[in-house]
Amino acid sequence: MEIKCPKCSVWTEGHPTNCTACGFDFHAAAQKRAESHPNFSAPGPPKFDFPMLHLNPNDPWHTRAGKRTVHAIQVVVMTFAGGMAWMAYWIAV
Ligand SMILES: [Zn+2]
Repeated sequence: MEIKCPKCSVWTEGHPTNCTACGFDFHAAAQKRAESHPNFSAPGPPKFDFPMLHLNPNDPWHTRAGKRTVHAIQVVVMTFAGGMAWMAYWIAV
């Protein structure tokens, strides 16, 4: 691991606690950074929120039929897209 000194811009190798060039304290700087951002956390995987149709049982039959058709198409399209992504992954690997 290399650390670039924020003070003198010299790269220090290994696991240094201080800059080899100017003696800048990396550990104190990291601690200071953590203190200034107490709520910082690594971003997790993105959440995909697909706008799926909600089937309402109180809808009239033709609305339900229409929604079911759109719903079925959405499922097919998503399955297809998923399959494409899966194939693209294996081609890339
Ligand atoms: Zn330095």
